[in-house]
Amino acid sequence: MRSVALLGLASALFIAPIPTAIAQAMPDDISKPDYIAPEQTIPEAQDIAYPGTMTLEVDATDNEQGIFKVTQTIPVAKAGKLTLLYPEWLPGNHAPRGEIEKVAGLEFFAGPQKLDWVRDNVDVYAFHVTVPQGVREITAKFQFVSATTSSHGRIVMAPAMLNLRWHQVSLYPAGYYVRQIPVTATAIYPDGWQAATAMRPNTVTGSKVAYETVDYDTLVDSPVFAGKYFQTHKLSSRVHLNIVADDAKYLKPKPDQIAKHAKLVKEAEALFGSHQYDRYDFLLALTDEMGGIGLEHHRSSENGVNREYFTDWDDSPGRRNLLPHEVVHSWNGKYRRPQGMWTPDFREPMRDDLLWVYEGQTQFWGYVLGARSGLYSKQDTLDAYAAIAAAMDQRVGRSWRPLIDTTLDPIIVARRPKPWTDWQRQEDYYNEGLLIWLEADQIIRRESSGKKSLENFAKAFFGGKNGDWGVVTYDEQDVLDTLNKVQPYDWASFVKDRVHKTTTAAPKNGLTLGGYRLVFTDKQSAYLRANDKRRKQTDLSYSLGLTVNDKGVVSAVSWGGPAFKSGMKSGLTISAVNGKAFSTDVLKQAIEDNMGQSKPIEVFAKNGDAYHNFMVDFNGGLLYPALEKIDNQGSGEGASEGGIDRLLKPITK
Ligand SMILES: [Zn+2]
Repeated sequence: MRSVALLGLASALFIAPIPTAIAQAMPDDISKPDYIAPEQTIPEAQDIAYPGTMTLEVDATDNEQGIFKVTQTIPVAKAGKLTLLYPEWLPGNHAPRGEIEKVAGLEFFAGPQKLDWVRDNVDVYAFHVTVPQGVREITAKFQFVSATTSSHGRIVMAPAMLNLRWHQVSLYPAGYYVRQIPVTATAIYPDGWQAATAMRPNTVTGSKVAYETVDYDTLVDSPVFAGKYFQTHKLSSRVHLNIVADDAKYLKPKPDQIAKHAKLVKEAEALFGSHQYDRYDFLLALTDEMGGIGLEHHRSSENGVNREYFTDWDDSPGRRNLLPHEVVHSWNGKYRRPQGMWTPDFREPMRDDLLWVYEGQTQFWGYVLGARSGLYSKQDTLDAYAAIAAAMDQRVGRSWRPLIDTTLDPIIVARRPKPWTDWQRQEDYYNEGLLIWLEADQIIRRESSGKKSLENFAKAFFGGKNGDWGVVTYDEQDVLDTLNKVQPYDWASFVKDRVHKTTTAAPKNGLTLGGYRLVFTDKQSAYLRANDKRRKQTDLSYSLGLTVNDKGVVSAVSWGGPAFKSGMKSGLTISAVNGKAFSTDVLKQAIEDNMGQSKPIEVFAKNGDAYHNFMVDFNGGLLYPALEKIDNQGSGEGASEGGIDRLLKPITK
């Protein structure tokens, strides 16, 4: 049907008469407004010292209703117009995600005098006030009314823990680089709670903590996890693991589990040959109550995992690849930052087109460090590679949308679900980036006869002077230059073909160069089982071509797959399969039973109030991705060590 319609349209266009004069767009006799461009009234950020130190006091004691109460003083140099900004473009989110709608009860004062404010009608993150003559400082008071259900946004206040994110609870003056604005922050936590952040406390009075004075950039980069159930573990002389939990019963890490986190730090510092922090604090929340998070900072990271992270350790690899990913960002993303992603303040838009390096190579090293530290077993890592390669192969949208374009997805879509992910693509620069960097690693190994690897690039590009937690920016040419310095090769074409151009298949050469090939088997790996469990889903993407939950709700349909061809879409609710009431087991059994058969699988599903019987043509049985060792000697057991085997081995004792 589709091609017929297109042909009809093409012939209609062909015979249309060629216009002889410029066509009239809108009739002359209707009213037409003039356009007046809005006035730019917000001063541009300048790299000059801010006159004075802001103070910020956040009352974070309301763990019942999640209302943060803010009192902030802002020194002012002169009378007249002052513009205060609420952070909009958030580092790590790579997008304008500041939750401005949750700022409420906003008031400004000059001493006892209340000041009027007006929000900028072009930039709604900006508030204008007029500073009276003779006034040296103004006070802002407001609440950050945090999400009370996940439909409002991410929950940052739970009964037994909170995540204080300074960008949510502060304003800053326009006209200055944020690194030029000093601020002294104080937080009041619920009684008896303990807190961790990259900032060090100056004074602690009961549950009130006054932090060291820092610049506003550093403040925003130093969020807090605080909780009733809290532990700190020393991983090295500089690095701590700070854990909060929903309940004391989850806060039971075993010494060997902590040891693997310490090994992660050791392996990461050995990989990059430096530490780009004076100290580093992992903030780890074991929670089902606070919203999920994985967010990098220069000297800390916010990590939210399931409560059973430690207590169900042996059941599955779980979320143990999160901390390896986030710590890599201290080097890749924070110390070395794409030029377009470093901005002088939180108002200037970020340009994300190097996320395939920032996130892609972090994803790559995250999995490698997961394996090297023992947080992930080697088999789990191989299973993850298989899942990633298979998923990227299904991204048929690569035929119209090059990988580089997906780097703009944080801005375009803000992680909202999509109806046709495989065709629309999503933040593929993470996992396709991983595959590209795996291939680069294996090419360097091959071209250097095993003397070098991507590790040489990591040291040369992301490593710097120990303890330097500043920022060094780069562009794509810098990446290519360093690659060529490490190992001469046509890296420009390598990147152009994989990143900038549309492609026909996922870049899987790294797997085969590394000694493995992607295959499909009827056995689901522990990694995939854990993934399904975490997402409360049954992923049948490689057989039926859909993903469904235990209520029968279809969350994804693979573009061009068997379910797609039968007319199915996400949002349907499956009621029955081959005449039997739906359960995920019934569905899987139907796929198995139909193996080698010539009849379709009948899927009876509800679309709103209507029911429809979808005839899904698929007889290949249950299929899950896995990696198979390429063994030229023909023996799986005695297979020789390949490039991926070498890559995943620890480099420290
Ligand atoms: Zn990341």
